[in-house]
Amino acid sequence: TMAEKSFKYVIVGGGVSAGYAAREFSKQGVKPGELAIISKEAVAPYERPALSKAYLFPQGTARLPGFHVCVGSGGERLLPEWYTEKGIELILSTEIVKADLASKTLVSAAGEVFKYQVLVIATGSTVIKLTDFGVQGADAKNILYLREIDDADKLVEVIKAKKSGKAVIVGGGYIGLELSAALRMNDIDVSMVYPEPWCMPRLFTAGIAAFYEGYYANKGVEIIKGTVAVGFTADANGEVKEVKLKDGRVLEADIVVVGVGGRPLTSLFKGQVEEEKGGIKTDAFFKTSVPDVYAIGDVATFPMKLYNEIRRVEHVDHARKSAEQAVKAIKASEEGKTIDEYDYLPFFYSRSFDLSWQFYGDNVGDAVLFGDNDAASPTHKFGSYWIKDGKVVGAFLEGGTPEENKAIAKVARVQPPVDNLDLLTKEGIGFASKI
Ligand code: FAD
Repeated sequence: TMAEKSFKYVIVGGGVSAGYAAREFSKQGVKPGELAIISKEAVAPYERPALSKAYLFPQGTARLPGFHVCVGSGGERLLPEWYTEKGIELILSTEIVKADLASKTLVSAAGEVFKYQVLVIATGSTVIKLTDFGVQGADAKNILYLREIDDADKLVEVIKAKKSGKAVIVGGGYIGLELSAALRMNDIDVSMVYPEPWCMPRLFTAGIAAFYEGYYANKGVEIIKGTVAVGFTADANGEVKEVKLKDGRVLEADIVVVGVGGRPLTSLFKGQVEEEKGGIKTDAFFKTSVPDVYAIGDVATFPMKLYNEIRRVEHVDHARKSAEQAVKAIKASEEGKTIDEYDYLPFFYSRSFDLSWQFYGDNVGDAVLFGDNDAASPTHKFGSYWIKDGKVVGAFLEGGTPEENKAIAKVARVQPPVDNLDLLTKEGIGFASKI
């Protein structure tokens, strides 16, 4: 039998939130040997958004150690040595396959046993696969997904092997849009397929999407909407060759990348902890229903104070901030102190080609578009406000300066009243800049 290892604090999962939690533990004071991070991945925590962006670029390529946390938010990079210096144990390439919250025990795939006093669940999400729905031929080679660095390495390898080849991107969300751009930049012929009437339908309005679809078309990306991939054929090597669409069309493909959504990784804890909205339910301090167990990042369903609603957020900014909040709460409770409740303002962003957008707040109510959303315009600066109950509750901006992005963040937080939507459209970013 293997030796049992025991820690005061264990973070299970070694992604974005784990990395930011480690930094906060270090800030608040942690003694050597008290904290361990157990991760399925072989590398120290890194800024995951880089995987669908600079990691795939033909020039100015990002590679580790360049994008370990916490560079993504302008902080110091936590290299593997940093953890060693702080006495924080990074237990890598170690998948936890069993968790028993009652006895405070975790067991790895290799049979190692880990004990903790306080557990932080930071297992993030996994991708939804076409094989999950039994799509015909979906297990062919070169049908790829992107979540972790191993997936990105596989993609880089296939991009090299299929120079000037054809790719089909399945899914019109941010992964689909970022990957289409990255593959196009690698001189791959790209088609995107999605069932919705426009891309990023959960956030974009038709007016916002029209700009990106036009821009992508100008970059040579073929967009096929209103249908889905229903099957794949493979060649004699088992490599994908064709994508069959529901509308009967058949697309040639050397590479298929699927981005059809994620699923929070909560299965280890099923039946042991309260869940809600597909995630692990927490309070405003990321404490779960089980004493001494916290959940942060993608897996946490938490009270969003601003909207008086319980929500789960799958974005990097929340992964960072929830990690800091949880660690502050853990440390405060040890000292019998309290801290302020988490008061999160939703913030999402994406970048592709030479485009960059930010969104703050809630995309509910009526949307108004402002600025120039003509895909062919040289400036391409435009945006949108969402108005509910006479107040601006959300704001989106493409191509904003840092000051303008700060201004739309403030609008979403302050929720200023508006009565004239025409005027708002005319004022555009000027409205936000004077708040
Ligand atoms: P993760 O960062 O996913 O970390 C989870 C970790 O847990 C992983 O290391 C995983 O291997 C490990 N793990 C899981 N199960 C186990 C187990 N049983 N045992 C051991 N280890 C385990 N958000 C944005 O806002 N903007 C973006 O531009 C953006 N781009 C993205 C691009 C890509 C390609 C991806 C995949 C995500 C992107 N996101 C983006 C989302 C953002 O990265 C996530 O919301 C964030 O990483 C969540 O952090 P997390 O710590 O909860 O999970």
